[in-house]
Amino acid sequence: MDIKKVVRQHAEMEQFFTGGFAIKGKTPTSEPPKQEDNMTAAEKAADLERIAEEVSQCRKCSLGSLRTNTVPGEGNPNARIMFVGEAPGADEDAQGRPFVGRAGRLLDKVIAACGLKRSDVFIGNILKCRPPENRDPAAEEIISCLPYLQRQIEIINPEIIVALGAHAARTLLDNTKSIGQLRGQFHEYYAGLGRPPIKLMATYHTAYLLRNYSQQNRQRVWEDMKKVLAELGLPIPEHGKK
Ligand code: SF4
Repeated sequence: MDIKKVVRQHAEMEQFFTGGFAIKGKTPTSEPPKQEDNMTAAEKAADLERIAEEVSQCRKCSLGSLRTNTVPGEGNPNARIMFVGEAPGADEDAQGRPFVGRAGRLLDKVIAACGLKRSDVFIGNILKCRPPENRDPAAEEIISCLPYLQRQIEIINPEIIVALGAHAARTLLDNTKSIGQLRGQFHEYYAGLGRPPIKLMATYHTAYLLRNYSQQNRQRVWEDMKKVLAELGLPIPEHGKK
């Protein structure tokens, strides 16, 4: 493997999502306006804390005995955008926080490229404990763990869910299509009887983006995020690379 080439590619990837963007129009505040909601942010935060406490005691699947820390997810209880990945990795397991390794740092850059801060959004995963060797989530693990995420979505009630990668998208949409088929368009996540569906955008997981570096892939993620910003009525930063 050409290490220098890999390092240069990753540097370019990071630059794409950090440098060269100019926000057109007003920069969004940290608490953008959101649709009507019955719960206050404090009530939502308390409910999310209760879920995190339950997760910390959970042994519903075999991953419960393998983890160092649970990773319930974190962020703004009033978030308009909720990012959902598949499962914690080694860094997340060590710290008990979602998306804090290399893929997490790239997600931070994607969020920043959108003119937002990590504290504006909520970030979570389908599974709250790390599968060994970062293997794919097993069906029985997803079945055991999904109710926690479903409750988090219900509480936060985001306007848009961004599903990162095939596992998150397939699980939330209950289908078996590839991420290539699912990404780039809005789908509907059904949050329960009597509740309106929530728009869901599927895009590539940032770990996939790191592994499959190409101008085309990073541009695809950016195109997906631009659709999310447009749907929310937020200003779309312009790619102004010199
Ligand atoms: S992965 Fe989910 S269901 Fe399994 S032990 Fe962890 S919190 Fe419980």
